[in-house]
Amino acid sequence: MKRPSKTTLRNKLDKIVSEIVRKRGNCEKCKSKENLQACHAFSRKFNNTRWDIDAPNVFCLCASCHRKFHDNPIMFTEWVKSYLGSERYDLLKEAHNQIVKYTIDDLLTKLGVLEQIARKKDKPPKGAKNGD
Ligand SMILES: [Zn+2]
Repeated sequence: MKRPSKTTLRNKLDKIVSEIVRKRGNCEKCKSKENLQACHAFSRKFNNTRWDIDAPNVFCLCASCHRKFHDNPIMFTEWVKSYLGSERYDLLKEAHNQIVKYTIDDLLTKLGVLEQIARKKDKPPKGAKNGD
C-alpha cells in the first residue's frame, strides 16, 4: 500500500483535532452550543503546537466568538492568557516557536494517538448522568 503524503496526514490531523475539540460541546468563551469550530491560539503554520489539544493551543469556539476574536487579535490574546493562566500561556508561547520537522512516521504516530482520543470521547464520560 502506498504511504500517505505529509499533506494528507496533516489534513487528517487537522480534521481529527477539530473533531476532538468540537466534542467539548460548547463555546469555551460564551458557552453557546451552536456552530462550534476549532480555533487556534497560535496559527496552524507553527508545527509544534498545530495539533496541541493538551496545552491547549486549540479551543472550541462558536462561529460568532471565533470571528470576533479574529477581528480583534489583541482581545483574543488577552482571553487566551486569562483562560489558560499566564504560566500555561507562557509555556505555549515558548512551544509554538520551537521548530520541528515531522517525518511521515511522526505524523502517523500522532494520528494514531489522536484517533484513540477521538474514539474515547465518543463514549460518555465516566459518571455522566442522563438528563444533566
Ligand atoms: Zn461563543
